[in-house]
Amino acid sequence: MHDHRKLGRELGLFDTDPLIGAGLPYWLPDGAAVRHSLEEYIRDQERRAGYWHVYSPVLGKRDLYEISGHWSHYSDDMFPPMDLGGEQVVLRPSLCPHHAVIYRSRSHSYRELPLRMAELGGMYRSEPSGVLGGLTRVRAIQLNDAHIFCTLDQVAGEAQAALEMIRRAYQALGITPARYRLSLPGPGGKYVAAPEMWRRSVALLTQILDRCGLPYEAAEGEAAFYGPKIDVQISDSVGRESTLSTVQVDFHQPERFGLHYIGADGAKHRPVMVHRSIIGSVERAVAHLIEQHGGAFPAWLAPTQLVILPVSDAEVDQAARLAERCADQGLRTDLAGPEHGTLGARIRAARLVPYQAVIGAKEAADDQVALRLRDGRRLNALAASEVLNRISALVDAHRIELWDTDTGA
Ligand SMILES: [Zn+2]
Repeated sequence: MHDHRKLGRELGLFDTDPLIGAGLPYWLPDGAAVRHSLEEYIRDQERRAGYWHVYSPVLGKRDLYEISGHWSHYSDDMFPPMDLGGEQVVLRPSLCPHHAVIYRSRSHSYRELPLRMAELGGMYRSEPSGVLGGLTRVRAIQLNDAHIFCTLDQVAGEAQAALEMIRRAYQALGITPARYRLSLPGPGGKYVAAPEMWRRSVALLTQILDRCGLPYEAAEGEAAFYGPKIDVQISDSVGRESTLSTVQVDFHQPERFGLHYIGADGAKHRPVMVHRSIIGSVERAVAHLIEQHGGAFPAWLAPTQLVILPVSDAEVDQAARLAERCADQGLRTDLAGPEHGTLGARIRAARLVPYQAVIGAKEAADDQVALRLRDGRRLNALAASEVLNRISALVDAHRIELWDTDTGA
């Protein structure tokens, strides 16, 4: 595995500047292209699974976090509040309180449940400067978050569906979990005191893990302050483990925010909140993708998906027309002409690009390309339109394979 900090800079994906500050990386165009594709994939999967997307502000009044319990259980990780005309405003340490308030802003019938609310939103953690580095320990985080407001009976089904979304995403991303962890509370005052609530939610999560047939290890002292969670662990280039995805059951915040729905009996009932994240934070997910693939991202994520290589100056016009057709089809393309060196040198320079379309005199005359795949395979010359359609189909389906051998290529 590679070190994402070193490779991220070499490949021009992200960087930091002391003037912006430690733990506050910025994304360069190629990194932004990867991030954009990842965010679009998540939103698309969520839309298909019946989630509603919302936007909420990255700031909130101190009172909001006093109600949620962050203030008393999580303030060590929060930035100090800002005084604004007699009010204290805080950079948010999580999205949950905002989503609870959004749920509460309308009345809900049991028929609307499960109500799945999702947001790719910013949050902040006051990490000490000694631990900051790359994209894994940062102070500004873009979180892939969702909260499912549901009845107790719906919790297991929703949590299982979330685990299935995580499994599918890992397949598309080409990553493998190190292990599943059932994160339980530990000793000390970090956790809300409600023994019955903890007992119920631990029993629920254990049941879900068993039903999914997933092997897991229980770990004390790793729960969220408001409830236990299923964590999907990954390991980095030096074997250090961290949590990427998570599914949590929460009885605490619905209570604190006085959430309810109107049941079939016409009376008010308390919903349960299932917190879930498919890829955790965008920062950590991209860091892991860089390390896992060494910069050779799956085609749907690659900053440049197709490089067009005219053999000589005579094919440059044809190559430029092909580049336009690629752009029309939404493919990220680069044209590397003879001014960038010999064909061999240009092929080596594009070794991380999934597809390399070589255009010689014969291909230019017949509107064909000779396609090379990143893994070294070389295909017979094919019609340019067929090549573009087949690459687009693989990219749109978020396929990890570079080429569909079933269809006879
Ligand atoms: Zn949450």
